[in-house]
Amino acid sequence: MSYDVIVIGTGPGGYVGAIKAAQLGLKVAVVEKRASFGGTCLNVGCIPSKALLHASEMFHQAGHGMDALGIEVAAPKLNLDKMMAHKDLTVKSNVEGVAFLFKKNKIDSFIGTGKIVSAGKVSVTAEDGKVQEIEGKNIVIATGSDVAGIPGVKVDIDEKVIVSSTGAIALDKVPETMIVVGGGVIGLELGSVWSRLGAKVTVIEYLDKILGAMDGDVSKQFQRMLAKQGMEINLSSKVTGVEKGGKGAKVTFEPVAGGAAQTVEADVVLISTGRIPYTAGLGLEEAGVALDNRGRVEIDGHFRTNVAGIYAIGDVVKGPMLAHKAEDEGVALAEILAGQHGHVNYDVIPSVVYTQPEVASVGKTEEELKAAGVAYKVGKFPFTANGRARAMLTTDGFVKILSDKTTDRVLGGHIVGFGAGEMIHEIAVLMEFGGSAEDLGRTCHAHPTMSEGVKEAALAAFFKPIHM
Ligand code: FAD
Repeated sequence: MSYDVIVIGTGPGGYVGAIKAAQLGLKVAVVEKRASFGGTCLNVGCIPSKALLHASEMFHQAGHGMDALGIEVAAPKLNLDKMMAHKDLTVKSNVEGVAFLFKKNKIDSFIGTGKIVSAGKVSVTAEDGKVQEIEGKNIVIATGSDVAGIPGVKVDIDEKVIVSSTGAIALDKVPETMIVVGGGVIGLELGSVWSRLGAKVTVIEYLDKILGAMDGDVSKQFQRMLAKQGMEINLSSKVTGVEKGGKGAKVTFEPVAGGAAQTVEADVVLISTGRIPYTAGLGLEEAGVALDNRGRVEIDGHFRTNVAGIYAIGDVVKGPMLAHKAEDEGVALAEILAGQHGHVNYDVIPSVVYTQPEVASVGKTEEELKAAGVAYKVGKFPFTANGRARAMLTTDGFVKILSDKTTDRVLGGHIVGFGAGEMIHEIAVLMEFGGSAEDLGRTCHAHPTMSEGVKEAALAAFFKPIHM
């Protein structure tokens, strides 16, 4: 059997690309070395972390958030095993869903480690060592990413005491204390989970802000909110050592600017310093596929590597390491392989932090516009002035709209607040169609909704908000 497309890796990039290619009439095979489909995202990333974020938030609300609404509940009791079972079941139903979709779309699957033998040929080595070779006109590398370490520091991740995100979604008891090395999205989400369940969480971040790539206003306000929730955050701090010992593990860090080092102990240390592209064992060197200076598979604007017939998408290539970016690349590449004109608009890729409140962002930050010398307007609206937010006691946060000073075109949107991850999409759609702040501000929004905050921020950008 010779395939039109062989996809190596079944994360959001690979599985969505495979399904789209099959829907467009191509004969598709997938190769996956994990026991289940869905990649990092469905197995140990997006989906299990959101199951725990939701469950831990419910637990926290039952303990703290109900009283002011006139609901008196006895102190909630945590059944961590059951919470983890909910997470596992969520993962199971999602990964089984992918297997079902592969069958439905007549996609052949090969379980084992895929290696590119040459353009057009992939070998698959099963766990028992058996090797088979499959052939296809096009090969798609969608092998994703792996946990990054700490530059210059040897860390022995045992997934029990010193954990990556994979261990942090599977702890068997709530640690009394937890140190999170890295104040990015994954560290803050998983830190929030354990903080809500009772751990004292300390974050150590190298940069002078958390959520490094986010708009400065957003990261400042979000940091204040996390501090109010009990998280201790050390910025501009460089970790120089992580080792087992003391209560569980010890972390040594010092000011980035220089100064005395200090060592802190915790039951569990989460290393969340980012992720690196995963290309080990793929045979790229032998096949002559070039990597860039950060170890990512180098591609052109049409996902082509330097070797004809070999393409790459998702975390293993440049761009934000996000599931929906990988998915959109999978769709665009499938369209290209089917002779269509697939395209991804990298200027409009939303990004969400699923804490409580949520943080969501799309397009440019204020810092990026300043650095690019773009003349812009800012419209900001706080949820304290939003009726629905008052009714739900979710007044923390704001909406910020950035628009071009001359044309009024919306260039970026940033939201901190309850439901931010859902609200961000109206800004994304508007930006995709090149809409203006006035377009957004003049669009009728249902009352009372949190989304009225988006409308008011847009009104603030092009003229004046009504409720402020
Ligand atoms: P992956 O999902 O990493 O999939 C790659 C697959 O390839 C894996 O299954 C791997 O086993 C397989 N593979 C690798 N090498 C081979 C080989 N040689 N042969 C066969 N198979 C191979 N992103 C979001 O957008 N939203 C979130 O909420 C979010 N939360 C996250 C939470 C955590 C804790 C983590 C770790 C990540 C999170 N991410 C989130 C990031 C998201 O998981 C990734 O961006 C996404 O999974 C990338 O998809 P991908 O298809 O490129 O690769």
